[in-house]
Amino acid sequence: MPPVFDKDKCIKCGLCVLDCPGYILALDKDKDEIPHVIGKYKRECWHCGNCRISCPSGAVSYEFPLYTLV
Ligand code: SF4
Ligand code: SF4
Repeated sequence: MPPVFDKDKCIKCGLCVLDCPGYILALDKDKDEIPHVIGKYKRECWHCGNCRISCPSGAVSYEFPLYTLV
């Protein structure tokens, strides 16, 4: 599952977008958005955890697919 961003916790700092090694996240501050996975890359998340580690406000969560845990 791609990451889920909590709009109530996100402070729109953009660190998760900068630190994603797959460049699959976007955040348009002009549109007052929170981060999201770019549509055409919905299946490209590597579950590396960088976005969650980078987030200073605990706004990122995701479920790890079983194959990443074995
Ligand atoms: S888990 Fe890794 S690859 Fe997936 S969105 Fe976060 S930083 Fe990018
Ligand atoms: S790192 Fe966290 S607070 Fe910053 S934009 Fe990403 S989700 Fe929002």
